[in-house]
Amino acid sequence: MILPRLLALGALAAYVGLRLRKYLGSGSRVSQAHNTAQPIEDILEEDPVCHRFIPRQEALTVSRSGMIQYFCSEECRQKFLHKGEHEA
Ligand SMILES: [Zn+2]
Repeated sequence: MILPRLLALGALAAYVGLRLRKYLGSGSRVSQAHNTAQPIEDILEEDPVCHRFIPRQEALTVSRSGMIQYFCSEECRQKFLHKGEHEA
């Protein structure tokens, strides 16, 4: 019987084709599991409180007077917010 073999081969070819397409598709952009297609995900932002750099994708944010501030943690975010209250 040749038919089962052909079917198996077809399945294999489909599988490899799928893998290949996936591989080629991820070649042009960063292969992270994030589902945004924007290149923004690799931009580092400085935390104004502790001055660490965090990937924009993972940062906590506060939007203030049209500017977005990025924070490494909720703690830094809160510090920034309280600091802002005193300055204003
Ligand atoms: Zn921080």
